[in-house]
Amino acid sequence: MRIIVDGRETNFITQEWIPREVHHYLVNKYGYNNDLYMSAFFRYIHIDTIRAAQRIREFLGVPMYFNTWHMGGKFNYRGYRPVNYYLKQSGRENYISQHQRGLAGDFHTNEYTPDQIRDKIMPAYKELGFWRVEMGVNWVHFDLAKGNSDELVKFYP
Ligand SMILES: [Zn+2]
Repeated sequence: MRIIVDGRETNFITQEWIPREVHHYLVNKYGYNNDLYMSAFFRYIHIDTIRAAQRIREFLGVPMYFNTWHMGGKFNYRGYRPVNYYLKQSGRENYISQHQRGLAGDFHTNEYTPDQIRDKIMPAYKELGFWRVEMGVNWVHFDLAKGNSDELVKFYP
């Protein structure tokens, strides 16, 4: 379902931001293409995350790929991630990711490498509305976890 924020259609659909299993759970519970589904969606993804993604989309001017499961692709956890995903992946019960809080997105584009994208968006982080970037990975992770300072936080996996 097309995500509308602040009265404007974004470039994103809900499937790009939630895993297949969450989407199906919501569709079974609320149906699809309706307000109930949409308000339930925003319990998983913070609206500011979509706002930041849309600003980045317009800033870059090229398509961004988050989840691709709905198109037969392999990406299922590039937006919201359920807690049990981490229990399986990390074996650590106390591992907290901004993906779990609906405050993070991972994407790639076909036009630019992840390093090129980071070089473009990092100087504009305040206007674009994110506070952290993951370095040294072959996708672009941004998130909205703001620390004590106004500086952009660069972290490594
Ligand atoms: Zn990430």
